[in-house]
Amino acid sequence: MSVPKERLDAFLADLRAAFPEGLDLTTELDTLAPYGRDESDLGEFPPQALVRATSTAQVSRILALATKHHIPVTPVGARSGKSGGSLPIEGGLALSLEKMNRILEVNADDLLMVVQPGVFTAQVDEAAEKLGLFYPPDPNSAAYCTMGGNVAENAGGPRALKYGVTRDYVIGLEWVLPTGEVLRVGRRTGKGVAGYDLVALFVGSEGTLGIATEITVKLIPRPRVVKTALIPFKTVADAAKALSSVLTSGLWPRTLELLDEVALQAIAGRGLPVPPEAGAVVIAEMDGNHEAGVLSELAMLVDQCASWASLEAVVAQDESQRERIWAVRKEVSPALRALTGKKISEDIVVPRSKVPEAIERFKAAGKREGLTVATYGHAGDGNLHSNVLYRTREDWPRVEAVLAEMMAVTVELGGTITGEHGVGLAKKRFLPLEQPEPLRELQRRLKVVLDPSVTMNPGKIWE
Ligand SMILES: Cc1cc2nc3c(=O)[nH]c(=O)nc-3n(C[C@H](O)[C@H](O)[C@H](O)COP(=O)(O)OP(=O)(O)OC[C@H]3O[C@@H](n4cnc5c(N)ncnc54)[C@H](O)[C@@H]3O)c2cc1C
Repeated sequence: MSVPKERLDAFLADLRAAFPEGLDLTTELDTLAPYGRDESDLGEFPPQALVRATSTAQVSRILALATKHHIPVTPVGARSGKSGGSLPIEGGLALSLEKMNRILEVNADDLLMVVQPGVFTAQVDEAAEKLGLFYPPDPNSAAYCTMGGNVAENAGGPRALKYGVTRDYVIGLEWVLPTGEVLRVGRRTGKGVAGYDLVALFVGSEGTLGIATEITVKLIPRPRVVKTALIPFKTVADAAKALSSVLTSGLWPRTLELLDEVALQAIAGRGLPVPPEAGAVVIAEMDGNHEAGVLSELAMLVDQCASWASLEAVVAQDESQRERIWAVRKEVSPALRALTGKKISEDIVVPRSKVPEAIERFKAAGKREGLTVATYGHAGDGNLHSNVLYRTREDWPRVEAVLAEMMAVTVELGGTITGEHGVGLAKKRFLPLEQPEPLRELQRRLKVVLDPSVTMNPGKIWE
């Protein structure tokens, strides 16, 4: 789908006239092409024009003109999204925030940081660390995804188990509505409850309600000691049962990551010390301020897993061993894709007690269609990256059948179809499984209030 040439040309002419000082605007096909792809494997949808904005004032004027001309606008961060959120499926304008990439303030006294949306997530925690502070949200893509994208998707990561997700840290936003109005919402204080919580509404809005041009996040004191254990199991079912029992035993690790036998096969030979008989591994991490205390709690966790038939655990002896474990963990997603060439990565969440059943039923659904389902991810949160592996587009009907069953099972078990990646384009057909029509209709009405011309990231979330 694309905007008719006449309408697009009128918009571009107005845009050029509005910025006599110049604007990073292009319609050159080679430059547009990469802005039509992300990490969702959903296909290529290049925009008809691209602006790489450099200021809030630019974003505001561009959105006002796009609304006037009824031009679809798709906000773009680093295009690492897995639900197709940044794909301009109706053509029009891709509005990239990649050049708004400065850290504006690090305030240790008030425990906060103010950043532009194009700052990479890892840079935020690195800046916090210099002051002994901590920005916990840690998507595995942190090195190359942006804070704007994290806000839009309410990104999480392994540490969400103990510390929560992006929404738990964003306390204020400068936000440009689709009409071009610039709002400042939220606070700079530890607490604040005045009015409706618009920050909570905008975080997770998947680029459909406007654009974050400035983000204020809270920071917390950084734990001084972190210890990591690699706990192998013979089967993924044993590992999944052990995970539930860890959390009910009174321990509060900061990560409980799970890798099943297919994930282990994908990363074989990359330096993870796992015995050959292992069919699953758990990466458990404890933190605190006293080394002996942290080690003792990690030992309690390992003992707890032993009562669920874990094999011999390995505790990382130094920072370089810890880093190696996490480096390999970050390679799981591309390594799985390399096994068959193509995959669809889901990010469902089920109640913790249902993790073993969910994993088993997803694998069975794949088997029925002759496809492999690999599961890894933040199992301590019940958040599973179950990946359907496939080879060619001809496999697609079978992939669809497996995905549909996985989503139905998830909802049946009391879960949600997305815990991290968002609904975007990938999951909008499954949203009715989880949310009844009156609830979806209420949210659509809310969108129209904020985006009267319905031009902001159209075709996402809602059918
Ligand atoms: C290997 C790998 C590992 C990953 N691991 C995780 C993980 O552990 N946890 C997790 O949550 N995700 C993970 N992701 C998914 C992805 O990195 C996140 O969704 C991330 O938040 C996307 O950021 P981005 O800058 O790439 O945004 P994009 O992909 O460019 O955009 C994502 C959405 O944000 C919107 N958007 C972008 N900038 C703005 C803005 N300034 N204002 C409003 N809307 C905006 C876009 O329109 C789109 O809807 C992973 C991805 C990969 C490839």
